[in-house]
Amino acid sequence: MENTAQNCAKIKTDNDKILHERFTEYGKNAREWTRKCALLLPEIERREIWKKRGFENIYEYARILAGMSRNAVDSALWTFQKTEDKPELRKVIEEKGITSVRLIANLATQETDKFWAEKVREMSSYALAAYAKEYRKAENHACFETGIATAPQTQNISMELEPEVAEKLEKLKGSGEWNALMKKFIEMHEKQLEQEKPQPIEDAKRYVPVAIKRYALARTNSTCAFPGCSRPYEILHHTVRFALSRSHDPDKLTPLCKAHERLAHLGLIENEESAPSEWRVRTLRGNVDEKSEKYLIDQKVLKYRTALGCHKFL
Ligand SMILES: [Zn+2]
Repeated sequence: MENTAQNCAKIKTDNDKILHERFTEYGKNAREWTRKCALLLPEIERREIWKKRGFENIYEYARILAGMSRNAVDSALWTFQKTEDKPELRKVIEEKGITSVRLIANLATQETDKFWAEKVREMSSYALAAYAKEYRKAENHACFETGIATAPQTQNISMELEPEVAEKLEKLKGSGEWNALMKKFIEMHEKQLEQEKPQPIEDAKRYVPVAIKRYALARTNSTCAFPGCSRPYEILHHTVRFALSRSHDPDKLTPLCKAHERLAHLGLIENEESAPSEWRVRTLRGNVDEKSEKYLIDQKVLKYRTALGCHKFL
């Protein structure tokens, strides 16, 4: 009886697996065919083929014939138009589809055409999105760097607090500034963490000891340490590569989300060995030292991951 029950359970699991695999395969094919349709759209629009075939407009044509949304059509036509004078990005569009370039189509110029084509080829879409966002910020910052001293920036945040907590905080602030009070709390927190900091482990095995991991995560409450990122951490990253140092130093272990960890391994974070508040993304202005040991190790990591299609971290 038990054997029969076990067999039934196994058949059920096998069926689930087949169903899932079939869905995944069909989904992959569907995406591939939509990608091909999107590639044809600009030419269809240029020649107004939709009109000749009796459709109201290109949106109706794409919706009825390929199930494409209005947004997808707009996005394809816009990206194509944006890359008109960018031959390298056009090559990437042919290889990977229009949507692969959409994220950076507005950022790329004729001068940076090749640079962005390389980035789209070597980065996953989530890492590219994170990089594009930071790149845009860095470029804007460079534009506004006029040498004129500006007042320190402040920002508003809102919090939901229990009335007793809010009351206590108000008292502690008194007639002072919120910023000063919060700074004091942060300093106290950091001081306490510092006292609990474990010793670095030299000549270590790959496995990060629990105490060191706990300390590294406590510094950001398990949030990605990249400035401005509030995603939960996914990878405990060695800012000095483990393959080089063979050590687990609590100060050199930083929690990162997948996208920002990718940027680190692509050599796109400047000052990586300093505190995360000092980090800047490397734009076209900053060159990667392609002869450094760190760069060579990162290249190995990327090749290894691409080969395995996995996210094993080093
Ligand atoms: Zn992040």
